[in-house]
Amino acid sequence: MLALVTGAAKGIGRAIALELGKNNFDVAINFNHSEEAAQKLCEEIKTFGVKCEIFQADVSDKDQAAKLFADVKSVMGETVSVLVNNAGITRDTLLMRMKPEDWLTVINTNLNATFFCTREAIRDMAKARYGRIINIASIVGLIGNTGQANYSASKAGIIGFTKSVAREYAERGITANAIAPGFIDTDMTEKLKPEIKEGILKSIPAGKIGSPQDVAKAVLFFASESSSYITGQTLAVDGGMTMV
Ligand code: NAP
Repeated sequence: MLALVTGAAKGIGRAIALELGKNNFDVAINFNHSEEAAQKLCEEIKTFGVKCEIFQADVSDKDQAAKLFADVKSVMGETVSVLVNNAGITRDTLLMRMKPEDWLTVINTNLNATFFCTREAIRDMAKARYGRIINIASIVGLIGNTGQANYSASKAGIIGFTKSVAREYAERGITANAIAPGFIDTDMTEKLKPEIKEGILKSIPAGKIGSPQDVAKAVLFFASESSSYITGQTLAVDGGMTMV
């Protein structure tokens, strides 16, 4: 069974690709700029005895997203059964300082790319009467965050989108679920100021920052047979930060 993970060269996407490969999924790794890291990851995944290939595409561009799926099918010789929409960026700033480009870039990369890739994947999944769509949202899509109006809107959009896809395709054996990570140790959170990190840490009941593997384990659950009667849900992986 083939899984495609967008933005998989590093951080959470990398952990997801590794976890799926370890659990017998063939893996298509999408990257945008990080080719070397993607190639290294691919070699590691192949040691699990599964197929793995890397595919460059900026998934916020609808034509590149379409080409990505065509390339994956022709190179890997199978259609995508599990799609993990993970690629994401931040452009944090207070609303008054937020430029339209900051808004549009984040919406394009986080939300529009999720739509483009899901639309590409869904036809083959519907034909196969099987599919798993797993969208990486964020707890700020549930509770909002100062300085992240663009990012939280994109993640809230992903949650609404996930529910609609879940309703439309439940009868065809396709599930669509979202995962809402809290504060996870990656390059994305590395750039936050130490005082902001301290404040966040205090608000996590588990008392620690999450790891990319924590998110990857939840993705594996949604990718597996065990979750076949669960759809349209948003699972927070956040050490108890939100509990909504
Ligand atoms: P990261 O370390 O910054 O990695 C982001 C990845 O997204 C990179 O591999 C990057 O690829 C890829 N990407 C960005 N724009 C892309 C595009 N247009 N096309 C294809 N790939 C693109 O971030 P992360 O923390 O692992 O985040 C992964 C996901 O988790 C994101 O959706 C993020 O919003 C979500 N999330 C993270 C946290 C957290 O605390 N870290 C919390 C909640 C949600 P290249 O390097 O190849 O350009």
